[in-house]
Amino acid sequence: MRMILFGPPGAGKGTQAARLLERFQVAHLSTGDMLRAAVKAGSELGQAAEGYMKRGELVPDQLVCDLVVERLGQPDCEKGFMLDGFPRTVPQAEALDQTLVRAGIALELVLVLEVPDALIVERITGRRSDPQTGAIYHLKFNPPPAEVADRVVQRADDTEEACRTRLAKYHAETTPVLPFYDAKGIVKRVDGVGTPDEVTARVIAAIA
Ligand code: ADP
Ligand code: ADP
Repeated sequence: MRMILFGPPGAGKGTQAARLLERFQVAHLSTGDMLRAAVKAGSELGQAAEGYMKRGELVPDQLVCDLVVERLGQPDCEKGFMLDGFPRTVPQAEALDQTLVRAGIALELVLVLEVPDALIVERITGRRSDPQTGAIYHLKFNPPPAEVADRVVQRADDTEEACRTRLAKYHAETTPVLPFYDAKGIVKRVDGVGTPDEVTARVIAAIA
């Protein structure tokens, strides 16, 4: 399976990816996770990306594309991959397309998790994650268990202000990517409102 998980910030891409990976043995390529790892490591890429991320702006295309192209060349991607949070701009989609054409492979599915803007801020500001396991929680919708509650952390960009910037960028720069994939007939839209279990059932039906 070669697919893209698409959708606004806080739509539930990471949450659904973790569930799908229990079922499908593919590589999970989250550019957000990769960039956060680079920031944590203090690499050149991390230092270049940190400010953009904190403000909720997009990291420049070239930096992100280099990261993804390199990652797609690693052997574990041969069994399939799930891109999460990439591509986020038309130039990124074009760079991905060129890379896949060169490798002689094609995308099979672009799965869009649809969640209205009105629900996004609450999802983002309540998001917490477990630094030990990477598990994603929500203070209200999916509270961490007692033994984890003391160690969960909030992302630096999960403020209301950065969230609003990210949403604006999503509408201005990321949704224009969809017509490109619509033209290929590989886009499926799934309602991302409901419990995580309900959304997973819809996602799995869409993949089947
Ligand atoms: P979200 O919760 O908004 O889906 P991500 O974890 O995917 O967040 O991304 C966090 C931040 O990392 C983004 O706001 C952006 O600064 C940067 N980022 C992630 N993926 C990309 C990308 N494909 N292009 C540009 N910037 C990206
Ligand atoms: P994304 O990767 O698209 O930014 P996440 O998977 O990190 O989104 O989810 C954002 C927040 O919303 C997290 O706190 C997560 O626990 C919560 N969440 C995810 N799916 C749902 C859902 N179906 N209903 C309510 N909250 C959800």
